[in-house]
Amino acid sequence: MTIQTCIPAVEIARLEKSYGSLKVLHDISLKAEQGEVISILGASGSGKSTLLRCVNMLEVPNAGSVSIFGEEYKLEQRVDQAARVTDRHQLQRLRSQATMVFQSFNLWSHLTILENLIEAPVHVQHRNRKVCIAEAEALLERVGIADKRNAYPSHLSGGQQQRAAIARALAMHPRIMLFDEPTSALDPELVAEVLKVMKDLAAEGRTMLVVTHEMSFARNVSSRVVFLHKGYIEEDGTPAEVFSHPRSERFRQFISKHAH
Ligand code: ADP
Ligand code: MG
Repeated sequence: MTIQTCIPAVEIARLEKSYGSLKVLHDISLKAEQGEVISILGASGSGKSTLLRCVNMLEVPNAGSVSIFGEEYKLEQRVDQAARVTDRHQLQRLRSQATMVFQSFNLWSHLTILENLIEAPVHVQHRNRKVCIAEAEALLERVGIADKRNAYPSHLSGGQQQRAAIARALAMHPRIMLFDEPTSALDPELVAEVLKVMKDLAAEGRTMLVVTHEMSFARNVSSRVVFLHKGYIEEDGTPAEVFSHPRSERFRQFISKHAH
């Protein structure tokens, strides 16, 4: 894997996020270089999803900045009101460079798998339908569910649905992929097939931010591990560093609790 040190894929600087009076992220600065695979670990409620959602502005931070390949989201901070994004075109452009894969798959239930894959490329990115169909078929082949192209999501297993969701994200040609506990809703025997697809994506040098409880993925696939505790980054380093020499006692406890 080559990690390039030019423009960072994602740069988060001094980010803060509150829900009403509850502050859930405090002064977060985090940079993902191009090609880095960062595992984001932490207990439930530590702010992992909120942090990931700030990268594509599903949540708008109350302070600080987020840049995608050097371009900073234009935000407006307002007194006594939620912050907001001010440039919808920029939002759409940056968001399609950083697509999200959710724990609950979020496939459109009324569309077939193939239709799920081409929906955004055709209607949001305004790309040629035939080209999008050909690409979608290749992506389904790649994640091992080509035979499900005309099936509806409810007819697929959880592992197949999540692989379809990953293919759908890839159909947008993202340069960054955001995964929010992609295997947490799966039966244990279906986890490996999804992790295998993610491992292949990582090996291709794609930039990935992955919220996960899969310690083997964090240890063996990611290039960096970040541990969140109550909205603060408590640990940040290579897997070798953080797993062999955790600086934070809480991370030490977290590792022993999640060791299989
Ligand atoms: P994690 O993904 O690590 O479990 P979250 O980012 O989902 O953590 O949540 C961090 C904190 O923010 C929790 O205390 C959670 O209850 C709170 N929270 C998350 N989303 C919302 C929301 N939309 N409104 C109010 N509070 C929220
Ligand atoms: Mg979460």
